[in-house]
Amino acid sequence: MKNTGMTRPLDPLGRVVLPKELRTVLDIPVGTPMQVFTNGAQIMLRKHSSGCVFCGELENLQTFKEVEVCQSCRTALTDMLE
Ligand SMILES: [Zn+2]
Repeated sequence: MKNTGMTRPLDPLGRVVLPKELRTVLDIPVGTPMQVFTNGAQIMLRKHSSGCVFCGELENLQTFKEVEVCQSCRTALTDMLE
């Protein structure tokens, strides 16, 4: 995980504003559903994804015809076609 160098305060309702430049670079328009993950004391946000259409994996996704497919399933599909 990369440190952006940005620090933002937590407001009284528990909200943190994601800087506009970060939202622009990461293509996160207003209204984008965000998933919240924890790992020990860390909190991670990511754009909502239901994961790979075949296995549910959330990492290394690529979109094909509006569905997301993980690396493992892309490899399996490629192998199947050979
Ligand atoms: Zn998959």
